[in-house]
Amino acid sequence: MKSPKIKKTYCPKCKKHTEHKVAQAKTGGKRGSLKKGSIQRLEKRGGGRAGIGNKGKYSRPSGLGKRYGRKASKKTSLVLTCKECKKSTISATKRSKKLELQ
Ligand SMILES: [Zn+2]
Repeated sequence: MKSPKIKKTYCPKCKKHTEHKVAQAKTGGKRGSLKKGSIQRLEKRGGGRAGIGNKGKYSRPSGLGKRYGRKASKKTSLVLTCKECKKSTISATKRSKKLELQ
């Protein structure tokens, strides 16, 4: 997907079309306290998941299933920042192989 660095579009705060700065939205967040690393650490120390069989996990890691690696594109969303009032809005998420800001 190609996108210009500056785009003229509607700003809900100014209630008119203004110039917007385009950037890629950052994703991601904080990891939970019982994520893979800490669960593995707990298992080594004798804690972690207790139970029968595969202890509530899938028999095969979910990332290595039949459809692993099939998707060639990623979901990207853009942050549009109004040049007049500095308010930013996130545009609709779309799938694309590569994001290019020109
Ligand atoms: Zn504005």
